[in-house]
Amino acid sequence: MLPCKFCEREAVVLIRTARRVWLGCPHCYQTWEIDAAQAEMTSDVGMVSDTDTIAGRSLRRGYLIAILGVALALSLRLVLRPALGNASPFLLFTPAVAIAAIYGGLGPGALATFLSTLLGSHFFLISPGEPIIEKWDRVILFLIVGGVITMSTGREPLARTKGACHGRGR
Ligand SMILES: [Zn+2]
Repeated sequence: MLPCKFCEREAVVLIRTARRVWLGCPHCYQTWEIDAAQAEMTSDVGMVSDTDTIAGRSLRRGYLIAILGVALALSLRLVLRPALGNASPFLLFTPAVAIAAIYGGLGPGALATFLSTLLGSHFFLISPGEPIIEKWDRVILFLIVGGVITMSTGREPLARTKGACHGRGR
């Protein structure tokens, strides 16, 4: 396993190309790059030669959860439209952002916030009589809420933490 350059704990492979390997540390949140050849020397060959790394897989799963969660929130919100009208446009998107941030970390949380903002304002903020400032007021409020959720829960993704514990136990 590759040690972190800064705190010497276990680092994970973020991106890998033929020549360079970008590493990230889930403990001190640093990222840096090294030569692919150097990575081969200092780590288990199996780990680095495998292009589909565990970190990459759990990150992709995080983005998938973000997209599916937002899609589910949108369809539920559309189903509830007759009852709710255009009230609370972002009500169901907030849990979708929280789930994406908890399982996927910062990136998926930010993606869920972004998608929710787009979809929520597109589908539910189009009441013609409403003053435009009220619309932006809600959009900005949701961005703040989504950002706070993502920043507070998304720093240590659950999927990656579980993986690290599992690895240490073996
Ligand atoms: Zn570190």
